[in-house]
Amino acid sequence: MSKVIVIGGGAAGMMAACVAADKGHQVTLLEKNEKLGKKIYITGKGRCNVTNAADMETLFENVVSNPKFLYSAFYGFDNKQVMHFMEANGCPLKIERGERVFPVSDHASDIIAACKRALDKTGVEIHLNTSVKEVLTEACVEKPEEDQEHPQKKKQLEKITGVILADGRQIEADAVIVATGGLSYPTTGSTGDGMRWAQRLGHKVKDCSPALVPFRIREDWVKQLQGLALKNVRVVLMNGKKKLYDGFGEMLFTHFGVSGPLILSASSFYKGGECTLTIDLKPALSVEQLDKRLLRDFDENKNKSFKNALSDLFPNRLIPVMIQQSGIDPEQKVHEITREQRQNFVQKMKALPMTVTGIGNYNEAIITRGGVSTKDINPSTMESKKIAGLYFAGETVDLDALTGGFNLQIAWSTGWLAGSSIE
Ligand SMILES: Cc1cc2nc3c(=O)[nH]c(=O)nc-3n(C[C@H](O)[C@H](O)[C@H](O)COP(=O)(O)OP(=O)(O)OC[C@H]3O[C@@H](n4cnc5c(N)ncnc54)[C@H](O)[C@@H]3O)c2cc1C
Repeated sequence: MSKVIVIGGGAAGMMAACVAADKGHQVTLLEKNEKLGKKIYITGKGRCNVTNAADMETLFENVVSNPKFLYSAFYGFDNKQVMHFMEANGCPLKIERGERVFPVSDHASDIIAACKRALDKTGVEIHLNTSVKEVLTEACVEKPEEDQEHPQKKKQLEKITGVILADGRQIEADAVIVATGGLSYPTTGSTGDGMRWAQRLGHKVKDCSPALVPFRIREDWVKQLQGLALKNVRVVLMNGKKKLYDGFGEMLFTHFGVSGPLILSASSFYKGGECTLTIDLKPALSVEQLDKRLLRDFDENKNKSFKNALSDLFPNRLIPVMIQQSGIDPEQKVHEITREQRQNFVQKMKALPMTVTGIGNYNEAIITRGGVSTKDINPSTMESKKIAGLYFAGETVDLDALTGGFNLQIAWSTGWLAGSSIE
């Protein structure tokens, strides 16, 4: 039996602690917040999209950074096992559109309650309001190097010895699992501590940036639409002539730009600089079909002014913007609209353009891209290649995915793998 410390009571840390304790280790979970799973509470708009029920191929396809690293983690503890774990611990689940899995209750708190039941059942000692300042290591000598010329030469390694808390107390341990999360939504406790420790201990840390994050848009008209949600639209993100993203779904206008599930997904493919984002407001219709539809609408409203002939086409708040974009005088009678004006208008409906000038910050980002380099972690165990007995799990590692429950799946799977790998 080893003495194990898990740092961080988020998804990855709670899973790691349960699994290590279930294996018979003496496990202490240290969480700096006053409660466990503070970030889980706000996931999926408070409903927690706990995983995605799609097949394994789809899980890997939705991982943006280092999918191959996740082979052992995903196959060791897959989405079906996550679902079984939650249900066995008292949280029934349901599957919604896009194979997204939620608690039947629609309450993220029920996922945390299920994890808490599992922690209690396995006998994990939980310390809340306990911030870790540093992880402690000492030099150790490991197996002889295979060095023909100097057969006696031993390989010098560091091994974990415990942690030091913010209040100065030290706790000894044989193994430490760092599950301190990334940098996004720092008010939930994710402030990058694990990455700093990793770097100090000689691990590479891949540069971090906010990901799954709203876009900032230059055009002022966007502000007029603040709060407007558009369902079933297609967006295309272009960098010059290069298409970076093309997707279909729901988006939202904000006071500085655009957000919503579709935009968050698009942001995963944004590489910086100025890009063009176009919205296809009528993706089910081709240009020709839309033109015919418009002709029909115009025919039925031929004596109305242009501004009064659009209510079947767009939500009310979008009408003034579309009029402005069309360049057509709002008072112009519909029967006076030329073919060229109408066709330009169709083009705007199929590709309403705006300029992306940047992305939101960590306070707005669902996840963090970057983190402890996967090159310095053993993918079969999540143990550091630099420090014996040091393990990493969850968002603190350079792993990230698209929306749909895939990021939590990464946290559950890597937490499971770290916890179950400790001897
Ligand atoms: C608004 C929002 C919505 C989201 N919705 C979804 C969703 O529906 N589905 C999905 O799959 N993903 C979603 N995500 C992403 C997902 O929540 C994260 O990827 C996941 O929670 C990461 O888990 P983690 O355990 O690695 O890190 P975290 O959840 O960040 O947990 C890290 C924990 O470590 C603690 N900690 C940090 N430093 C210390 C220290 N020094 N000492 C002690 N404790 C420390 C923190 O307080 C925190 O509790 C969402 C994220 C956000 C912000």
